[in-house]
Amino acid sequence: MAGSVGPEYRGARRRLVETLQTMGIRDLSVLRAVDLTPRHVFVPTGVRHRAYEDSALPIGNGQTISQPSVHARYLELLHLTGKERVLEVGTGTGYQTALLSNLAAQVFSIERVPALYEQAREILRQLDVRNVSMLLGDGTIGWREYAPYDAILVSAGAPTVPAPLLDQLAEGGTLLIPLGGKDEQTLVSFERRDGTVVRRDIAPVRFVPLLGTHGWQG
Ligand code: SAH
Repeated sequence: MAGSVGPEYRGARRRLVETLQTMGIRDLSVLRAVDLTPRHVFVPTGVRHRAYEDSALPIGNGQTISQPSVHARYLELLHLTGKERVLEVGTGTGYQTALLSNLAAQVFSIERVPALYEQAREILRQLDVRNVSMLLGDGTIGWREYAPYDAILVSAGAPTVPAPLLDQLAEGGTLLIPLGGKDEQTLVSFERRDGTVVRRDIAPVRFVPLLGTHGWQG
């Protein structure tokens, strides 16, 4: 991510990393990704001064960028080594996409709101992020062309797990998705091992609804 780490906000970013450590985030590659990724460029100018607080922030179009600690815990669960192909459903601002670009070999990210898709694409271009491919469309059907994926992260809450996403998960891969109601969900992981899929419920979470063919219908 050449050009992304100017001196501006570096101290604030370092303090955020320290906060995450005190909250129990241990994965050094995740902490390093947070340290390298300028969250302030992904949030609207009106809330930029709060970019390095551990808070969710409004990003327009009725959507929110999650708390950094939520991203960090989510990413820690994937144990990425830098070799993986990852599918992200719900690009939003592109902040988590940028974190993933530091943690995996290739990132494929889908967003359904055109304005968010365009904005994220432009910021990632400006940051010179090269290993991310983006698609404007319905992520509940996945992105078959580049499947299977070693990890799939869904950044919005669904009523049930979209079947195409399970189909596009590689052997040994993990799918993380918030499942439940429109306002509250449980973060659930599905791991594909030896031809079966193992489900594990992780923690209560609150995400915006996943809208689409295999999500909420509006
Ligand atoms: N992780 C993001 C925030 C995601 S908010 C960040 O770092 O900024 C959830 C996003 O999922 C929103 O942008 C919303 O538009 C998108 N979304 C909802 N349903 C979707 C679908 N079916 N396909 C793709 N994106 C979807």
